[in-house]
Amino acid sequence: MFSRLTAIAAPTLLVYKRNRWRAFFLVILPSRLHKMAEASRKSPEFRLYLKLKPEQWPIVYHPTYNIGFLGLEKLHPFDSKKWGNVFRHLQASEMLKSDSDTIEPLEASDEELLSVHTERYLGSLRWSINVAKVTEVPLVALIPNFLVQRRVLKPLRLQTGGTILAAKLALERGWAINIGGGFHHCHSDQGGGFCAYADITLAIKFAFNKCDGVERAMIIDLDAHQGNGHERDFMGNSNVYILDVYNSGIYPMDIHAKKAITRKVELRHGTKDDEYLQKVEHHVEEALNEFNPHFIVFNAGTDILEGDPLGNLSITASGIIKRDEIVFQAACDHNIPIIMVTSGGYQQCTAQVIANSILNLNKKGLIPRSQPGITEVRLPIVTSDK
Ligand SMILES: [Zn+2]
Repeated sequence: MFSRLTAIAAPTLLVYKRNRWRAFFLVILPSRLHKMAEASRKSPEFRLYLKLKPEQWPIVYHPTYNIGFLGLEKLHPFDSKKWGNVFRHLQASEMLKSDSDTIEPLEASDEELLSVHTERYLGSLRWSINVAKVTEVPLVALIPNFLVQRRVLKPLRLQTGGTILAAKLALERGWAINIGGGFHHCHSDQGGGFCAYADITLAIKFAFNKCDGVERAMIIDLDAHQGNGHERDFMGNSNVYILDVYNSGIYPMDIHAKKAITRKVELRHGTKDDEYLQKVEHHVEEALNEFNPHFIVFNAGTDILEGDPLGNLSITASGIIKRDEIVFQAACDHNIPIIMVTSGGYQQCTAQVIANSILNLNKKGLIPRSQPGITEVRLPIVTSDK
């Protein structure tokens, strides 16, 4: 080591003595450029990758997440204001003291969506009848498309930008929560089940492309439904491990997409806490023993909650809180950054359950306000001095 340093330093000093400007171009400028390149490697330049202030929580939310449309939203089984209600419950708890404690994402643009979606599919959303099929609200077909774009699709594009941003924040802080997102039925060429954009696929693909050293991801999909969207998108991709725990007797029953599931756990109607939590804990641990991802996307759907008209499972509110704790504890034990997205589950009480779960994660020390440095620990450190 000493001889190498001497070999570099001695000629540098000589050059500097003879000609300061020559030294600047030969030594100082390349060094500065190297540092700038290092900085950009750690914080990749990308429009959707906003910077989090040190005092902010890596919690992503925008008031425009919430869908309101001339009262039509009341015709849907979903509480379309769920995301805002989660945010308000967190504020009421004093975990969030002001709106600026969290970060607002940007709306994913067509150009960004096209990195996963086909032009054909995005073009199809310019027809209200197709949006009606995706959102499962038939009356949307009768509304002029410019209004559908503004009141329905824009909130979903914002939530998609939120999941993409959350991936970057998790890699910096160790964890991030998008209060929206989790559109796991949408794939590159088709939406469905209220999922218009493939936010999970987009977040993973952008992290792989933009964040140096990030090349393996795990999706832990614990929504009541099978995550056939990301499964179709990552079919045959050995860099993405998919653990999916779902009720096999409900939508979408996508047999082709099941081939992409690395670890499949099918549940029966009415599954209760004890069986569910035992299965989640066992399979999350086994998955992390089998595969070593650079980050986890946790699709934390709450339609597993008892009484959900779509999920048809019987998990209690405290069971959901315990489930989320198991997943975050496993990520923490394995030192793997984790993103949580809220996905399905739209009963009137659901927002309170999600907020209570986030508060519990905070109380257990699993989502500290500031956790710098995990990226440097977790990701490969490239050095020139071998
Ligand atoms: Zn679901």
